[in-house]
Amino acid sequence: MKRVYNFSAGPAVLPEEVLKEAAAEMLDYRGTGMSVMEMSHRSKTFAGIIQTAEQDLRDLLAIPDNYKVLFLQGGASTQFAMIPMNLMRRKKADYIITGQWAKKAWQEAQKYGKANVAASSEDKTFSYIPDLSNLAISEDADYVYICENNTIYGTKFKTLPDTKGKPLVADVSSCFLSEPVDVTKYGILYGGAQKNIGPAGVTIVIIREDLITEEVLPGTPTMLRYKTHADAGSLYNTPPAYGIYICGKVFRWLKNLGGLEEMKKRNEEKAKILYDYLDSSSLFHGTVKKKDRSLMNVPFVTGDKDLDARFIQEAEASGLVNLKGHRSVGGMRASIYNAMPREGVETLVDFMKKYEKEILN
Ligand code: PLP
Repeated sequence: MKRVYNFSAGPAVLPEEVLKEAAAEMLDYRGTGMSVMEMSHRSKTFAGIIQTAEQDLRDLLAIPDNYKVLFLQGGASTQFAMIPMNLMRRKKADYIITGQWAKKAWQEAQKYGKANVAASSEDKTFSYIPDLSNLAISEDADYVYICENNTIYGTKFKTLPDTKGKPLVADVSSCFLSEPVDVTKYGILYGGAQKNIGPAGVTIVIIREDLITEEVLPGTPTMLRYKTHADAGSLYNTPPAYGIYICGKVFRWLKNLGGLEEMKKRNEEKAKILYDYLDSSSLFHGTVKKKDRSLMNVPFVTGDKDLDARFIQEAEASGLVNLKGHRSVGGMRASIYNAMPREGVETLVDFMKKYEKEILN
């Protein structure tokens, strides 16, 4: 067996311990004689799995009792519609556009009401987070929307915007559980699991209870109402059961290694290794404003398309895979999520140094 260092932005690397445990339980989950994949979601065993997963997530994030945790399907993209359908009672919301994902969410919201742009960094290819002291927040906005970590561009909100009392809705797909957060600052935080948490197919929504009501936009399908899933404990219909089981294992892995403070420390150390090298390199350089750099997604370029392509190819041959930047921006991107070991980043930097020497000599 040969494992590579996988820098994919998602689906992404998962902790090896989690995968090994899941493999050992594949044919017979704890004496049930079946895989979790084959198990009724109404069984007592699965109830234990989903309840433990939720409790571990609550412990990790210190989620207050007045927030519900929902395990849904449809990816983060389904939330782009579900959020306005459930929250846009006054038909108005403000969006901060910091990348393609925020823009897609904003475009979707326009189908349901007036979606304003409170700020945008599109003028410089989303290479920074806009000035948050100067936001155009509407008096009667139902919520303010951000994408907290911008997977494609490698920027992250280091402070949250002042929403003037409006609920803050945040897409945290690519920074979920990478560091502690104060859940009480959000109305909703949500993300697809396939980056930091588990396999594709699970979307986690953490939502303040007062935002879950019957007052949804007319025509909102039953499956797209938060209340449907909140009332049924995420078991209104068949949930993505195997994915939830893996997410639960990742939550336990995080707890065992010391929780989110420890994870943040490790993530900062890993990111520093790569950013320090980028700042000292004569060949490679980072593409975003330093103060807005993400700990999770690190885009970089040489400035020469051919050298970028050759780098990606040679890295791949050395077991450093999925380093190609998003198709919309080019260059390279190393996604260094929670499960990427420090040695993976060190190996990447050693390889970059070698490549730089080879090119510049
Ligand atoms: N939001 C962010 C920040 C993302 O990075 C992605 C996917 O990469 C999405 C949303 C879309 O997620 P999904 O494919 O789960 O719909």
